[in-house]
Order: sequence, then C-alpha cells, then structure tokens
Amino acid sequence: MSKWDCIIVGSGPAGLGAAFELTDIKPDFKILIIDREKFSTGGLRNDCKMNFTFPIGFPAEYWDSETADYYLDKVMKILNPPVMNKYRLDIYQKRAEKLHAKLLTVSQAHLGTDGGLRLIKELVAELEKRSVEFSLGEEVTDIDYDRKMLVSRQREMEYDNLIIAPGRKGFKFLQDVMNKLGISYNDNIVDIGIRVETREDLYPIVKDYYDPKFYFPEKVRTFCTNSNAAYVVQEKYISNDGIEYFSVNGHAWSDPAKANKLVNFALLKTIKLTQPVASGQKFAEILGLQANLCGGGRPLMQRVGDFRMGKRSFKDTFNNDLYDFSPTLSGCTPGDISLIMPYKILKSIWMSMKLLDTITPGILHPSTIMYYPEIKMYANKPEFLDRFFQAKKNLYLIGDGAGTSRGITGAWASGIRAAEGVLESLKSGA
Ligand SMILES: Cc1cc2nc3c(=O)[nH]c(=O)nc-3n(C[C@H](O)[C@H](O)[C@H](O)COP(=O)(O)OP(=O)(O)OC[C@H]3O[C@@H](n4cnc5c(N)ncnc54)[C@H](O)[C@@H]3O)c2cc1C
Repeated sequence: MSKWDCIIVGSGPAGLGAAFELTDIKPDFKILIIDREKFSTGGLRNDCKMNFTFPIGFPAEYWDSETADYYLDKVMKILNPPVMNKYRLDIYQKRAEKLHAKLLTVSQAHLGTDGGLRLIKELVAELEKRSVEFSLGEEVTDIDYDRKMLVSRQREMEYDNLIIAPGRKGFKFLQDVMNKLGISYNDNIVDIGIRVETREDLYPIVKDYYDPKFYFPEKVRTFCTNSNAAYVVQEKYISNDGIEYFSVNGHAWSDPAKANKLVNFALLKTIKLTQPVASGQKFAEILGLQANLCGGGRPLMQRVGDFRMGKRSFKDTFNNDLYDFSPTLSGCTPGDISLIMPYKILKSIWMSMKLLDTITPGILHPSTIMYYPEIKMYANKPEFLDRFFQAKKNLYLIGDGAGTSRGITGAWASGIRAAEGVLESLKSGA
C-alpha cells in the first residue's frame, strides 16, 4: 500500500494553496490530492472573482489585517490575476456614509467561469509537473486517525499529514469527522438572504466597480456581484434526513458572446444564534426546506413590483410589459417570499434594498427579481490547537468548510497556513 507525506482532501483553492506551498518549500514531498468530483472543482470554477483586500473572505476570528496582507501577497504571486480599476468611488461612498452604510474599497480580479476553468487546468498541470498526484472522482468517507489511514469508497490510504479542505458542500462530512474524532466545534453563525437580479442599466455601479461591497446596518451586506454575462444558478443540498433542497447563487462568463446585460448579487444578513446556542446549519436547513416546500421543490422568485404591492408573483404575470427581462434561473417558482422568509431577516434586507436604491438608484424597479433562499453555511468552526489550523496532531482543517475562509483568496491563504504547519512539524520532528 502507498503512503503519502501529505494527503489533501479537496481540490478547491484551500487544497491547492496547501499543495503549492508544500511543493515550493519541499519539492520532494509526496502529496496526494483527492476529490469526490471528477474534475478539480470548488469556487475557482464558479465565476472566479478574487478579492485581495482584508476583511473580504477572511473571518475576523482567525485573521487580522496584517496577517491577511502577508498571505494575500503570497496568493497574488501564484494566481497573479489582472486587478480591475474602480471609478467614481468617492461619490458612492459619500452617499453611503450619509445613510450609515459603507462601501468598502476592495482590490478585485474577475476571470469569469470560463476563465476560472482555464486557471484550474493551469494550476493542476503545474502541480502535476511538481509530481503531486490527483485522484478525482473519489469520495473520502472516513478517517482512521489512530492508524493514520484515510478511507474512501475504493481504498484505504496511509498518510503522515492530513489536510481536510472539503468546502461548504463538505460541511456535513467535516462535522461527521469532528464528531468521530472528538474535535469541539460550533456552527452558530449563518448568512441568509436573497439574490437580486436586474438589468445592468438599473445597477450601473457595476461599470465603475465590478463587485461593490456594501455593508448596511443590521449586519446586511452585498456579496458576489456578477454582471454583463451574468446568470443565477441553484445549488442542491441534502438535509440531515436526506431531503433535497436548494440555495441560489450566481456567476458570470467572461465570453462576450454570452452577454445578457443583466446583473445579479446576493444581499445577505448574518445571523448569530446565541442563547440557547443552536446549529446555524440546522436553522438554515429548516429555512431551505420550508422554501422548498412552498416552491414545489424549487427556489422562489418574486418581482419587486409584486412584492411592493404585497402580492405573490404568478407564472402568467411574471413577464408582463413592466417585467421586461426573463429570469436567468427560469426553473424557479414565482411566489411570495414574504410568506416564507423570517420577518426580521426580510425587514433588514428590504431596508438595505431601499438604502441601496438611494445610493445607486434603479434597483427597486418593479422588474427586479428577488430569488430566495440564498444560504451560506460556512461557520463550522473547529477548536484549533495552533495558528496553522491544526485540530488534532497532524490533522489540519481548512477552507470554507472549516470556517477559516469565505472566498477563494482566503481559502488559498488558509491552505498556505496549514502547509506551514506541516513544514513546522517536520522541523520539530513531531
Ligand atoms: C456558485 C458559486 C460561486 C462562487 N463565486 C465566488 C467568487 O466569485 N469569488 C470567491 O472568492 N468565492 C466564490 N465562491 C465561494 C468559493 O467557492 C469558496 O469560498 C471557495 O471555493 C472555498 O474554497 P475551499 O477550498 O474551502 O472549498 P471548495 O472550493 O468548495 O472545495 C472543496 C472540495 O472538496 C471536495 N470534497 C468535499 N467533500 C469531499 C469528500 N468527502 N471527499 C472528497 N472530496 C470532497 C469538493 O468536491 C470540492 O471540490 C463561490 C461559490 C459558489 C458555490
């Protein structure tokens, strides 16, 4: 049976970041990257917007500005994407300040989903050149920690160091691992909200700033803006009881042939469950299932015009003369999100939409579509032993699934930190 110096579960940016750092410092290290998908996946292949400014993508529990900047420099050296210009920021920022909102200035690059796919190919090819092995289409099911064995559906694999970076979709897998190994964690934070879709001319700020990061009162923020060739997509989740439900998301192509002159972005409210502390994942799951029930097994969508009148949207009224563009996620069910969404979340989000419409007028046009639910469960926070995200000796838990990041660059930076931990343990012979 083969043995690896380090096995990395997950070929998203966290896993790739760890592999690059390890092979930079120790070219002869024997590394296996294993992923249940048939191709290297994760966020790099979904729109691929990269943010290079703290705190975007860096949870404050694990990162401060100085630490993030140090690692962002390293991330930039490997990924090296073209950073986009921004214009007229002072105008938007002044308007936002007057409303007690904030527009962050973030250094951004955008490759698009097609550009992300090209980048993944290049990164994988480079790692293969460095003799890193990939096993794609292989799902890890268990860890035999005492024997240092990783278990998949096909085989057992021996390791010296194990880095687990399973992303948000690997949330449940990671919780199972932590429960089995007695690693304490909490997951009491979750983001819930909507995805807004409208015509680009109704949200023209995207011409000045590709992914504008607005922070509103009551912990609401804009997130993941896509424009020009922008599409809303749905992601499938499976509840603990095996029931399917969906969350929406968005992406954009860089190919001008796919341009539809639409824009979409998320408006999310962060919920922190305190006394009695409950699982954010379970809370979000219940909301997802409830939306699924009322949407007949699909996410819901409602035109702002209908929402303002307190009416649900219907299939045959969804595209009348005022509602002058078609939804890009056409499989959604026209309905009434105010019937499904918890009052407090809806109130904060609607207030933020009004503020946004004041800062950059247009978003409250009756044709704008609100899709629900958009859920971000990335707060599965383990108790770590050190700053390298080591949760148990020689076992590192990183990336969005472990709550050490919230985006591509933060995930990559987490990978570098875990790799540093592995290298440090070699020095000390641990
Ligand atoms: C549609 C969409 C668009 C996004 N757009 C952006 C964006 O533009 N910019 C940005 O910064 N962030 C974006 N994100 C968020 C971004 O994807 C994440 O922040 C980032 O990918 C997290 O990296 P990660 O390595 O932790 O996890 P991931 O990238 O999710 O990778 C985890 C990998 O682990 C694998 N895996 C999970 N469980 C197992 C298992 N049991 N066995 C084997 N393999 C397993 C998965 O298949 C996956 O490939 C987007 C996310 C989505 C879903």
